[in-house]
Amino acid sequence: MGWTPSPADGTGTIVMRTSTALYPFDVVGDPEAVEAVVALGVDEVSLAGAYHAVRAVTPRHPQHRIVTAQRSAVYYVPDAPTWSGRYLQPSRAEGEGVCDSFGPALDELRAAGLGVNAWVVLAHSCGTGGEQAASHVTNAFGDSYPWALCIARPEVVEYAATLAGEIVGRFAPDGVELEACGWYGFDHLNAHDKVHAEQSSAAERYLLSVCFCEACEGSYRAAGIDLPHLREVVAGSLRDGDGRPRPDGSSDSVGAEEEIRARLGADLADALLCVRLAAADRMRRAVVSAVRAAARGRSTFLWLHAQGARHGVGGNVGVDPSAALSDVDGLLYGAPSDSPVAVAEAASVAREMPGRRVGIVVDVLGTQDDGGARLAKVVGDARDAGATDLHLYHAGLASADGRRILAGLVNGFGS
Ligand SMILES: [Zn+2]
Repeated sequence: MGWTPSPADGTGTIVMRTSTALYPFDVVGDPEAVEAVVALGVDEVSLAGAYHAVRAVTPRHPQHRIVTAQRSAVYYVPDAPTWSGRYLQPSRAEGEGVCDSFGPALDELRAAGLGVNAWVVLAHSCGTGGEQAASHVTNAFGDSYPWALCIARPEVVEYAATLAGEIVGRFAPDGVELEACGWYGFDHLNAHDKVHAEQSSAAERYLLSVCFCEACEGSYRAAGIDLPHLREVVAGSLRDGDGRPRPDGSSDSVGAEEEIRARLGADLADALLCVRLAAADRMRRAVVSAVRAAARGRSTFLWLHAQGARHGVGGNVGVDPSAALSDVDGLLYGAPSDSPVAVAEAASVAREMPGRRVGIVVDVLGTQDDGGARLAKVVGDARDAGATDLHLYHAGLASADGRRILAGLVNGFGS
């Protein structure tokens, strides 16, 4: 199926579409890459344009095998006048065939009839603002997280909106996938993590993500929250040996929300969440506004990576779906969260907001043991529940077996 920008087929029926994630350095320098992606049967590609630090395997590429980016980077040359004088600046990716690869990869994929969504990672920003530590999330103990930008801060909102707008204005992609367009925090997949034994529950990770930078403290005060009390109760709840009864650490979102309310008290937990969701709404709207302005009337479909837990922090940000869909065009639920959870979250949106595009992201990496049977069921369940889009992670990282599974899932989603 060739790319059609309209989300509907002219009769009001939403056309189901499939996409796969790809890095631009998977494409540039590999003369067989685009044809191999077309052979997977996907309609679109989610092409990384601004991405967090990464160590990526490129199993089929003739010129490299492992690509490493030590910090968050953009895969194009940032426009100097656009960024002149701005407090936070994007870094350029390094390496031949890696730096400046976004534009050439987009052109090659489009020439083959594929739609291209620019995949843009915002608040998850390893190393960005390294000299501006005030821009990072700071926990209740005063520890700064150099991988997470605090979205309550004006310079961070400006950075995110400028970045997303620049990519759309420069490259005119068919759509944009916004990742970490909202709160990022403690969780950070990292090869050197030494934190698993100490912090286990979703509620604890949320509490470790609550920011106490100056901007956030101002927001809490403005909302009538007793700041010293908030800091004490968040930090106290996270200290070992405090003698308090600790609810069972729960990893599901409902259990996590209950645990947060038990630890903070319901009123304080709700007031805190309200402030944080308002900041996320402001940031997302600034980014969306910048993207729409940069598109200059051109159809540009805007996806938001989301999760159903409103307190949720990470690449998939916690949202109220109706609030988010008042400015973005579609919501993507899924990896790295549990697939059945993503299906349930997507199903809920499909049920409550019929006619809107809602997709799931399914991770095909490391699924070869059962030949993809479990994922085929997830994809079938998602389709039956009303998901309109299937995004598959990740055609570049996948092995040959992974790609076969990916192609099978594409086929199954449309049948
Ligand atoms: Zn903050």
